[in-house]
Amino acid sequence: MVGQLPAVAGSHSGQGGAAADRGDRPFGAVVVRNDTVVMTDSNRVVTEDDIRRHPELHLAFRARRAMTARARAVTAMYTSTEPCPMCAGGTTTAGFSHVVSSVSSEEPVSFTGESPAVRSAEVLKRVGEVVGPVMMEKGRAVHREFDW
Ligand SMILES: [Zn+2]
Repeated sequence: MVGQLPAVAGSHSGQGGAAADRGDRPFGAVVVRNDTVVMTDSNRVVTEDDIRRHPELHLAFRARRAMTARARAVTAMYTSTEPCPMCAGGTTTAGFSHVVSSVSSEEPVSFTGESPAVRSAEVLKRVGEVVGPVMMEKGRAVHREFDW
């Protein structure tokens, strides 16, 4: 799966930039099947005043509605930052084959001062494969450019 990364390189970080441009925190994710981005989303917690609008959770919700379990089982989610525990739960329930993250969830702590109560790795154990961090500099740049 990591070999497919160049084909979707930057899509997840680009979604994080889109969120920041809109006034939301800079997090984004994409769903990839057969080396093609089939769904994208970015954080909308502020602009939609909805704590559920983390991109990973919303993509898990959308994928459950749009794809069969068999299709999701050969589909990956790429995230700009390691998912939070809420999103890790949704991602696990969606049944994706892989989760690939750019920036570790520990890195935003240096910007936000907020530390995750639980690392998502514990929740994501049921996912086929968890990969990351990858493309760290691109992912970090989105956080550095954001006005935390
Ligand atoms: Zn989340």
